[in-house]
Amino acid sequence: MSKEVMKIKFPGVFQKMMNQSMDVICAIDEAGNFGEVSTASKQFWGYDPEELRGMPLVDLIHKEYRSSTQEIFQEIRAGNEKGRFKNHLMRKDGGRMTVEWSLQWDEEDKLYYGVARDVGEKTVPKSSLEDSSEESYRYLFMDNPSPMVIWDFNTQKIIEGNTKALEMYGYSREEFLQLDIRDIRPEEDIPLIEAFAQSEEAYSKIQPIWRHKKKNGQLMYVHATSQLIDFRARRAALVHLNDVTESIKAEEGLQKANKIISDYRFSLDQSSIVAITDGEGTIIHANDIFCTLSKYSKEELIGQDHRIINSGYHDREFFRNMWSTIARGEVWRGEIRNQAKDGSLYWVDSTIVPFLDKNGIPYQYMSVRFEITAGKKFEEDILIKSKLLSAIAEVISTLFQYEDWEEALDKSFGIVGEAVSVDRVYYFENSFDPITGEGFASQRLEWTTTATSQIDNPELQNLPFELVADFIVPLRKRQAFKAIVSQMSETHTKEMLLAQDIQSILVLPICIQNHFYGFIGFDDCKKEREWREDEISFLQTLTSKLASAIEKRQGDFALKEAYAEKSIILESIGDAFFAVDKSWTVTYWNKKAETILGTNKEEIIGKNLWEVYNDVMDSPFYTQYSKALHKNETVHFEEFYPKLKIWVEVSVYPSPSGLSIYFKDVSERKNNEEKLKRINKELALSNSELEQFAFVASHDLQEPLRMITSFLAQLERKYKDLLDDKGKRYIHFASDGAKRMRLIILDLLEYSRVGRTEEDRQLINLEALLKEVVGLNRKIMQEKKAKVTWEEFPELYTFKSPLRLLFQNLISNALKYQYKEAVPVINISYEETITDWQFVVSDNGIGIDSEYFEKIFTIFQRLHNKDEYSGTGVGLAICKKLVENFGGEIWVESEEGKGSKFYFTLPK
Ligand code: ADP
Repeated sequence: MSKEVMKIKFPGVFQKMMNQSMDVICAIDEAGNFGEVSTASKQFWGYDPEELRGMPLVDLIHKEYRSSTQEIFQEIRAGNEKGRFKNHLMRKDGGRMTVEWSLQWDEEDKLYYGVARDVGEKTVPKSSLEDSSEESYRYLFMDNPSPMVIWDFNTQKIIEGNTKALEMYGYSREEFLQLDIRDIRPEEDIPLIEAFAQSEEAYSKIQPIWRHKKKNGQLMYVHATSQLIDFRARRAALVHLNDVTESIKAEEGLQKANKIISDYRFSLDQSSIVAITDGEGTIIHANDIFCTLSKYSKEELIGQDHRIINSGYHDREFFRNMWSTIARGEVWRGEIRNQAKDGSLYWVDSTIVPFLDKNGIPYQYMSVRFEITAGKKFEEDILIKSKLLSAIAEVISTLFQYEDWEEALDKSFGIVGEAVSVDRVYYFENSFDPITGEGFASQRLEWTTTATSQIDNPELQNLPFELVADFIVPLRKRQAFKAIVSQMSETHTKEMLLAQDIQSILVLPICIQNHFYGFIGFDDCKKEREWREDEISFLQTLTSKLASAIEKRQGDFALKEAYAEKSIILESIGDAFFAVDKSWTVTYWNKKAETILGTNKEEIIGKNLWEVYNDVMDSPFYTQYSKALHKNETVHFEEFYPKLKIWVEVSVYPSPSGLSIYFKDVSERKNNEEKLKRINKELALSNSELEQFAFVASHDLQEPLRMITSFLAQLERKYKDLLDDKGKRYIHFASDGAKRMRLIILDLLEYSRVGRTEEDRQLINLEALLKEVVGLNRKIMQEKKAKVTWEEFPELYTFKSPLRLLFQNLISNALKYQYKEAVPVINISYEETITDWQFVVSDNGIGIDSEYFEKIFTIFQRLHNKDEYSGTGVGLAICKKLVENFGGEIWVESEEGKGSKFYFTLPK
């Protein structure tokens, strides 16, 4: 304790004032020891002033602040430092308090005069940073998940920044600690932050959002909460930073969006009809455009049901659907026709948005509508046009499809009537008095909706033109008559039309071959109607179509008459007949065809033949008809028709338009043929059995016959001397009989072999063949000096052995059956027909009585006894069998004494 200090005494009044002060006022000597101390020290620090006197100040200072405090004391003494600083002071009770010093050096007194104010422990948290252990410092500050920065309150230099802060600004720790707070602001904000940072009060206020700058220059919005702390013996600001850039931006976005919405609302209000109704549909808001268009004032609209503008155009279903959609909380969009106050109609494209309460129940509906009347009108036009067009198409196809004319017209009228929505469509036909030339019109056909039918109105039959001249005149000039009845001048016509409840009428003439043939009329009984241009042209088109249909029908009548004539002829043909065109459509089908095939004319005419008879698509009927059609050639064939189990003989003739097909049921003949074939087959079977027998018999008989012959020969040779002449004669008869029998057996064998050859056909040179045969007969020919001649023969492709045997038998007979001493002259000739070769072997022999022409071809039948002419009676039977095996025929032409001609044919 210094003596000088002790000497100093405050004057009484000041002493008093000092002691009243809430601050501790003290004097501190050069060495830093307390001198005089005001009594507040007791209250705040727990020390009596006497206790403190002579005590080094630093003893009271928290160890952390001691050196810096000593530094500051020196600086103040040197005049470098301002005399305000903070440090922490340890109270007598061990408590710690923050003290703000205001210190001044008095050079004269060589004393520091200081005022120490308790600034409250609250400015420094209990677990203050500098007091924390390293671990909790790290934990609470460095690793804190929110960015924190500490800067020197006086110098505004950054003293510390935690990891998150470094991350946020993008600096390394070294770089960051070089900066002061100006460096992390955009330039334009620097004056603001300077002003702010200098005022301590500012820190206790709610702090604004600052713009901070990252290392890369990027700006962010930062919400900072700062507290002033003493850090490393300095006054410092500990700042918690919160990067609110995103939410600011979001908010900016929101503001922008709000702006857009309000702009949009504005433009919507300017451009569209906007109305808001409550949940029940009562209008609670209507904008100006709504008023303009609906021609109601706002006052008239508000409080009204929205249905006030309903035009009655849409059905209940339409609105029911709309209401159920919006009541569900969904947006409805549709086109509505509304009615303004003055009754005018307008179309709107309407979007209704329900506003939902928190339970999702609509409490209001906003409807935004655009007027689309013009577009709608265009659309309606298009719709009407396309409706009219499709009606034309329908009418045309009706007129050409329906067989029944009346029915076709009736249907067409219906289509037209509906298309132009009239109440009555009718057709009048004209007639003219042949003598006076006076014209009359008679209603022929009528179609009506709800309008009263006039078809039985006697006035509308034979209506004299004269009576309705005003009406007929334009029609006769090929012009339309149209009128709104109420506006017509008072004529009989008007009277008539009124009587029929007609309000508007349109009548179009029908002209056929330039004659006024009749007219078609259209009545509207519901309203006075201005006929639209497109309706008129539509009705004109239809009328002309009808006219041409009528004309065609008249033509058809003529055609039908011609047709009827023709059909009488065709029907009277006994054969069934039908005709098809080139696309197989059946154009004619006669009665007989109906009977045979069981298909009526009505069922098939106009239809495709193969659609009706698809069961024969895979049969010769199809192939043959196609052949006839495509090759343009006549085709005949017979074919079984399985479906009806009949055989038909068909002749198909191509015609310029297609095919004419004649056919008859030949089942009976075919069945007979079949029967015959069957019998033949059976016969062939029994024949073959017979042949088998003959073969076996002839073969087996030869052996005992040979035995008989050889024993007879032995008998004759050995016992010749023992036998008398009679005995010798008997033996001769026996051996002669055996020889004959052998011949018979050989012939029989030959006969049974016919047709059994396994040989193939070959090309036969007939010359060579005949030479062979002549060679075989050389002996007899030489004896009789016979002549055998033939003409040049073609080559034949057939079986050789049977042909050779045939010629052999015929030639040997021709040589044999001659008068004694006569010189046989034999000629062989041939003739060619389409189907076969016909040969003739003629001789100059004894001839045959016509009585035996058949008989001679039967086996074992001969006309002469063996003594006259040898033979077995098998030769010609073999010939017959051979020829028939070839498929040909054999016969004879002869007269007794005049030679014979044996004919046979061989099919080609
Ligand atoms: P065959 O000659 O063995 O008697 P055919 O069957 O060859 O037996 O002849 C039957 C009969 O037909 C003969 O008996 C004969 O009377 C008569 N005939 C055959 N060919 C001639 C012919 N060229 N001229 C006259 N009669 C004939």
